Amino acid sequence: MNLGRLKQLLNRVSLPHGSSVDADTKALHDALIAERQLRLSLEKELAEKEVEFDGRLKERTRELTEVNTQLSEQIALRKKISDALVKSQTRLTQAMSATRLGLIDWDVLHGQFYQSEFIDVFGPKEQSSEETIKTLKRVIHPVDYVQVRNTLNACLEGRLLDYIIQYRVLQENESWLWIEECGKVVDFDNKGQALRLLGTRRNIQSEVLRDEQVKLAKSVVDHTSEGVFVLDPQYRFLSVNPALAKIMGYEAAFLTGKRIQEISDTPKREQLYQEIFQQVKAKDQWQGELLEKRYQGDYYPQWTQINAIHDEQGAIKYYAGMVSDLSFRKAADKKLDYLLNYDDLTKLANRVQFKDQLHRALVRFKDKGMPFALVMLDIDRFKQFNDSFGHEASDQLLCDIAARLSQNIQKVDILARVGGNEFACVVGCSRTFDVQKFAQRLFETVTQNHYEVAGQGVALSCSVGVALVPEHAQDIEILMQFAALAVQKAKFQGGDQIQVFDESLKSFSREKLELEHELINALENGDLEVFYQPKMDVLTETIHSVESLVRWNHPVKGLVTPVDFVNIAEESALITDLGLFVLKQACEQTQRWRSSGLGKISVAVNLSTRQLRDVELKSMIQLIMDESGISPECLELELTESMIMEDSQSAIRCLQDLKSLGLKISVDDFGTGYSSLSYLKDFPVDTLKIDKSFVDGLETSQSQLAIVRAIIVLGHSLKLKVVAEGVENNSQLELLSDNACDMVQGYLISKPLRAQEMQELLERQKKRTSAT
Ligand code: C2E
Ligand code: CA
Ligand code: CA
Repeated sequence: MNLGRLKQLLNRVSLPHGSSVDADTKALHDALIAERQLRLSLEKELAEKEVEFDGRLKERTRELTEVNTQLSEQIALRKKISDALVKSQTRLTQAMSATRLGLIDWDVLHGQFYQSEFIDVFGPKEQSSEETIKTLKRVIHPVDYVQVRNTLNACLEGRLLDYIIQYRVLQENESWLWIEECGKVVDFDNKGQALRLLGTRRNIQSEVLRDEQVKLAKSVVDHTSEGVFVLDPQYRFLSVNPALAKIMGYEAAFLTGKRIQEISDTPKREQLYQEIFQQVKAKDQWQGELLEKRYQGDYYPQWTQINAIHDEQGAIKYYAGMVSDLSFRKAADKKLDYLLNYDDLTKLANRVQFKDQLHRALVRFKDKGMPFALVMLDIDRFKQFNDSFGHEASDQLLCDIAARLSQNIQKVDILARVGGNEFACVVGCSRTFDVQKFAQRLFETVTQNHYEVAGQGVALSCSVGVALVPEHAQDIEILMQFAALAVQKAKFQGGDQIQVFDESLKSFSREKLELEHELINALENGDLEVFYQPKMDVLTETIHSVESLVRWNHPVKGLVTPVDFVNIAEESALITDLGLFVLKQACEQTQRWRSSGLGKISVAVNLSTRQLRDVELKSMIQLIMDESGISPECLELELTESMIMEDSQSAIRCLQDLKSLGLKISVDDFGTGYSSLSYLKDFPVDTLKIDKSFVDGLETSQSQLAIVRAIIVLGHSLKLKVVAEGVENNSQLELLSDNACDMVQGYLISKPLRAQEMQELLERQKKRTSAT
């Protein structure tokens, strides 16, 4: 029954109240029953519906729950994915920043460019395509830019999918930074042109530097003359440089992969290398000399060094080695040893070797009490010889001297050349040994031999100094100082002599200073005196000229010879005053003799090197001549041959200048200055004085006579007067006279005399001549 019917029924039941009760009751009853039934059926229907609805509801709820679960699962999944994405993004960003990798993202379609790093170089993170291109052009090194531009163009045009390029960019501090950029086109349009490009940029500065260093190191290794190799842990060659291949005589490729023991040919190689590598393992290094054999078959000494190279865990990863071929070095060592110990010119021992021997001699003395002597010999006036003949001739002369010394001087510990023109020997002094005699023999070997240089005979003199162990010193340096001091003394006294050290020499230098001081006083106090030594005309046997020779009347030492103080005066500037003093005295004295009628006497005055260089010399001479009244032709200046030869061009000018005063010039000590005789014609001189050393022994030596004769002939051919000095006996006089020598001077005629004595001599002569 439906609800409408029920409502109809209900309306009917309530509306007709007074019609028939029974009927009505019945009807009502029926209606009630009907209504009841209806209600029941409705309730039933409702219950049924409710059940049905319930079922449906349950079904729906279940469905909903299911959906709900699925949704939650999906949400959870999505969150998980999103979390993972964030995580991965973070990781990526962190990784990129850790590796200093910069991301680039170029959206070509929309003209947008993004970069995550290097903004201090390339500008802001986001920029337009135009800005990006401008920046690239501005910051990339011009040399690298072309490659960058071409690569990017190729990508944009679809010709290139991905790329890796390296280029330099300009940093804010104006320095260049190396960048590596990797890129990939990830989106194209239908024509294949790029729409989007992704990539990274990386700072590779340190890698490039490292690469450069590696290249450099490789180039050094390739070009070094030392052999370099790397072995693997099984001792096989991994790499070798060209030098090693060359040293061993194999191709580099042949060596690679071979065990070092296989290649080596050193005796007992397996055992030896086993020991070597044991040490490398223990101490990380081994080095030593090996005797190796080249592929070509010859043995050679090889210096080898092997080092262990470890990996991070400390295990040996490689062995690195270096090899040098010692055969050249050994040869060089020999040469070096020779150079170190011997004089290349004379082949005698040199100073190093000499000191070594001296040391040994001293040790012998200290151990066994064996005394010894140090004898030093210095060639006199060697500098002048050098200047006159040149280095080559001087070297030859030194060789000759060395050869003669080696021949004559035997049984010495050592004979050495210890300086330019200095020789020295160490000789043991047994009880029977006479050191004086030995020094004399050494001296004579040099002085009594004639040497031939450039076709010209030369005579040499030398100064010899002797010092003894233990008498004088027991220490090498002091001994050498003492011997040198003795040589100095010999030189100071004019050379050509032997000096044995004595205690007084210790104060030699100090004495020299004192002497200089005393000499200044002597000049002021009038303690210097001029002596005169006559020169006799050989033909007429008369005296027309004298040589002035200075003397020092020393309050303690008595009459001191110029040999002992002219050198000192010459070393200081004292010689100028001394020279002027002598010149003044000589001119005044001679003029007095002339005016007192003792004859037409002329006077010779010795000049020193320093005086000759004095610019005021000429005017001083002029003044003295004027004041004394002596006429210029009565004055003669004596200059030694070596003074003239020292700087011949300026000497010629100087002499011409002096000669313009009208005086005469004489060459003193002629024959000792090694000058070539033919030079003489260029010098404005009047007289030659043959040196005393040629006159000495003239009567016994034919060769000396020949020299003297030649000098006289030569002098005469140049229209020069020739004087022989140091004539001591009649035989010499006769020989000189026979050979037409013009004048003689020497003890035979007279020793140098005081002015008064000289005057008496002249007076006697005057009497004699006027008597005849
Ligand atoms: P010199 O010019 O060669 O003088 C000759 C030297 O030989 C003189 O020595 C003289 O005394 C010495 N003598 C002369 N005849 C003989 C002889 O027959 N036998 C021997 N054994 N000797 C003889 P002195 O006077 O000692 O002079 C030595 C040197 O001192 C001179 O050598 C000269 O170079 C230099 N000298 C002397 N006086 C002066 C001077 O006033 N000024 C300069 N600058 N030097 C001077
Ligand atoms: Ca002289
Ligand atoms: Ca002389």
